[in-house]
Amino acid sequence: MDHQEVELLAIGAGPSNLALAIAIEEMAPADFASKTLIIEQHENIVWQRGMMLPWTQSQVSFLKDLVTMRNPCSRFSFVNFLHSTGTLHDFINMASFLPFRLEISNYLQWVAQSLSRVQVQYGRRCETIEAIRSSDDVITGWLVRLTDGSAIAARNLVIGVGRDAHIPEAFRDLPRERVIHSTEYSSRIAHLDPDAPHRIAVVGAAQSAAEMLWETHQRMPAAECSMIMRSIGLDYYQTSKFTNEKYFPSFTDSFYAARPEARQRVLQEMRRTNYAGVTPELLNTIYRQMYLERLTGTQRLRMVTAVDVNHARMDGDEVVLGLADRIGELNDELRCDVVMLGTGFERSLPALVRQIAGLVGVEQFLVSRSYRMIMPPAVTANCYLQGINEESHGIADSLISVLAIRAGEIVHDLLASRPTEQPLASAAAVAV
Ligand SMILES: Cc1cc2nc3c(=O)[nH]c(=O)nc-3n(C[C@H](O)[C@H](O)[C@H](O)COP(=O)(O)OP(=O)(O)OC[C@H]3O[C@@H](n4cnc5c(N)ncnc54)[C@H](O)[C@@H]3O)c2cc1C
Repeated sequence: MDHQEVELLAIGAGPSNLALAIAIEEMAPADFASKTLIIEQHENIVWQRGMMLPWTQSQVSFLKDLVTMRNPCSRFSFVNFLHSTGTLHDFINMASFLPFRLEISNYLQWVAQSLSRVQVQYGRRCETIEAIRSSDDVITGWLVRLTDGSAIAARNLVIGVGRDAHIPEAFRDLPRERVIHSTEYSSRIAHLDPDAPHRIAVVGAAQSAAEMLWETHQRMPAAECSMIMRSIGLDYYQTSKFTNEKYFPSFTDSFYAARPEARQRVLQEMRRTNYAGVTPELLNTIYRQMYLERLTGTQRLRMVTAVDVNHARMDGDEVVLGLADRIGELNDELRCDVVMLGTGFERSLPALVRQIAGLVGVEQFLVSRSYRMIMPPAVTANCYLQGINEESHGIADSLISVLAIRAGEIVHDLLASRPTEQPLASAAAVAV
């Protein structure tokens, strides 16, 4: 396995690339599918590994699975997963459109196991990407180097690695054991003594922060949990059937065609439909608990609102957060043991995409309507980007909502640009 060559290499076995694998098996010639490989850094597939809490639910309908909106007859549908695993009756009886996060995760693993031509290889992490150049200096492919020392050459690359965790500047100098970002919550929380009287500060006011607050409160009966936010208080997702239409795959066309200022305005207006809110069920659960705690004089939950955390430091064994009041201009400090960050994801491109941009010699690049990086003329290799095109393709881009259709659009584009026959060339020899 030291050196492989494939026609399409998809990095990351999350929902995006699994939807792509299905589309390839259903739409592309068999020889193309057999030369498609997905690599995943972990030993299995887990959706939202860091926030895999048993009680959490997906926020989109089960009908927006990896395939149904593109091909409702597909054997890879969520309904067929339920049927195949003997859970269809139970799911119907729950009478919910929103599966538990765990069910979606199991569905993803089932899809990967049910593929017949596209291969998924686990425990393979892409470290760097290099360009394969022809003798006349045209970039004809990519050489992907993995952490295990092996390499894979491919003419087509699809990057679906998700987004990088955002750690705000103020927290970067705290010792690692004192800071838990939501992307690693599930594994890190397991190492905290559940019976100790920890003082926990959860930073953020969106769904992930609220989930960490609630899970920690439930799991650690002696812990005091404070939620720290810039806003004046937790708020519901502000969504309706009308605004939800902007998550339809058909809206991608209008968004992509819009002027940059108009795109920004729409994204700004839609922030509260996805990012800056909490589900009504969870918000009400937290509120009820705080009410009960006040009533019984056993307060463990606390909201610290309208503040900026402008610095964080250690004082002996305590973490000290400096809080700047956004209303009354009073500065304060909060002392705690552990900080949990529900601070979301970086807006900048993932490192692998920045590498590709560097290889082809561009700082800024455009992405085509079909999710392909628009390359300079001396590049015949393709690179498609999944899940990171919010600025050009709309707010649904990082969600499951569009990915069945998106996968089909990428496969169409791939097949249209497939050369009749052209060897990748001496990949290992000419990689630079
Ligand atoms: C807590 C949380 C809840 C969410 N809930 C919903 C929801 O209910 N509905 C919804 O539509 N969206 C939800 N989302 C948005 C989420 O981004 C998408 O649902 C979806 O997971 C995006 O899929 P993806 O494949 O693009 O990326 P990811 O799901 O992030 O998958 C990326 C995969 O790439 C792998 N990988 C990363 N780097 C490498 C590398 N260098 N080499 C090899 N493999 C690598 C990762 O291990 C991972 O398996 C949620 C997000 C979060 C954080």
